[in-house]
Amino acid sequence: MLQCPNCQSSENVKSGIIKDRQRYRCKSCNYHFTVQKMGKKIDSYYVNKALQLYLEGLSYREIERLLGVSHVSVMNWVKKYKIKRPYNSTYHPTYKILNATEIKVFFSNPENMSGAGVVVTELGDKYMLIKWERFRD
Ligand SMILES: [Zn+2]
Repeated sequence: MLQCPNCQSSENVKSGIIKDRQRYRCKSCNYHFTVQKMGKKIDSYYVNKALQLYLEGLSYREIERLLGVSHVSVMNWVKKYKIKRPYNSTYHPTYKILNATEIKVFFSNPENMSGAGVVVTELGDKYMLIKWERFRD
C-alpha cells in the first residue's frame, strides 16, 4: 500500500501523471505526491481512459490536457491497439469535469438530461461528464 509522506494515511487516489510519474492525492490531508519513476510504463488506467476519450471524439490535445499524458503517447496507443472511430462525424461532444457533489447537482436537474445523451467516466479523483446534443435534422 502507498502511504502519504505527509500523514502516513494509505487512503489515496490517482491524480494525473507528471513527467511519467504517477501522481496521487491523499484523501485525508489532500497532499499531492508522486511515486518513484515508472519509466516508460504508464499505468494501464491511463491507456484505457485515453482510448475511451479518443472514441468519444476528443482530440489528442484535449486528452493530453485532461489526463496529463502526452499526445504522442495517446497517438501511439491508438495505433498500437488499432482503435478506429466508427464514424467520421462532424459533431463534437461537450464535456465537464465535476466532483462527486457537483455531479449530484447536475443529475438532479432534469433539464440537464433532456435531448442529450450523457456518459460519466471516472477521471482521477473527479468525474468527467460527456454530453451529446441530439442530432438535428
Ligand atoms: Zn496525507
